[in-house]
Amino acid sequence: MLASLPIAAAGCTFMAWAVRGRASTVFGPGVWRGSGDRRALALTFDDGPSEATPAILEILARHSASATFFMCGANVDRLPEVARHVASAGHEIGNHSYSHPYLFLKTPAGIRGDLTRAQETIATHTGLEPRWLRAPFGVRWFGLRRAQHELGLTSVMWTTIGYDWKLGADEVAARMATHAANGSILCLHDGRELRVKPDIGGTVEAVRRLVPVLLDQGYRFETVSQLLCPTNSPSAC
Ligand SMILES: [Zn+2]
Repeated sequence: MLASLPIAAAGCTFMAWAVRGRASTVFGPGVWRGSGDRRALALTFDDGPSEATPAILEILARHSASATFFMCGANVDRLPEVARHVASAGHEIGNHSYSHPYLFLKTPAGIRGDLTRAQETIATHTGLEPRWLRAPFGVRWFGLRRAQHELGLTSVMWTTIGYDWKLGADEVAARMATHAANGSILCLHDGRELRVKPDIGGTVEAVRRLVPVLLDQGYRFETVSQLLCPTNSPSAC
C-alpha cells in the first residue's frame, strides 16, 4: 500500500501538468511560444471584449502594434460593436470559450457546445473565424482534442502571463519586459471573465508602459498567426 503512494503522487503531478502545463498537448494540439529566430512577439488579451477594450486599442494604434484578442462569446454578444472595432483595427480574434467555464470535469459534449457557440458568435458579429483557442484558466480536459479538431482550433497557451488581475501596472509591465524574448506569447486581460464594466485600469496602464519599452528593445508586435505562421504556409505552423 505504501509503495503505491509515490506512484499515486506521480500520477497527480502528471495530471496537474497535463491539465495546466503550458507545453502540455495531452488533451489536444497546442503551442506556447513562437520561433526564436525573429525579433518578434505576440501580445494577447483574454476575457474581452469589455467596455475598456477601446482604451487598449487606442494605445496599440498609437504604436501601430498588432495583437490577438481571445474573446468570450458571451462578452461578444454583450458588446458586439467593440468586437467589430477590434477586428476592423486589424487585430486577430481567438476563441476563449462562450461562458468562460473550467473545462476540468466537463463532458466532451459540454466542451464542444461551449466552444462552438463562441466560434459562431464571434463569426456572426465580426466576420472572422478564429483558428486559435485559449482555454479558460489555461485548463484543458478530455474531449477538448476532438472539439479542437472539429472546429479547426489550435490551443495557444503563453510564454509569460502578466497576473494583471492582481498585480499593479508597474509590476506587470516590468515582469513582461523582463521575460520577453524572441517568439514570446504574452498574456494579459482586457476583461475579467464575464464581468460587466470590469476595472482593468491596471492592465491599460501596464500596456501603456510596456509597448514602448518592447519597441525600444527592438521587438515587432505580431498577431498569433503572424508569429506562428510567418510564411502563412500550413506546413510552417
Ligand atoms: Zn480567461
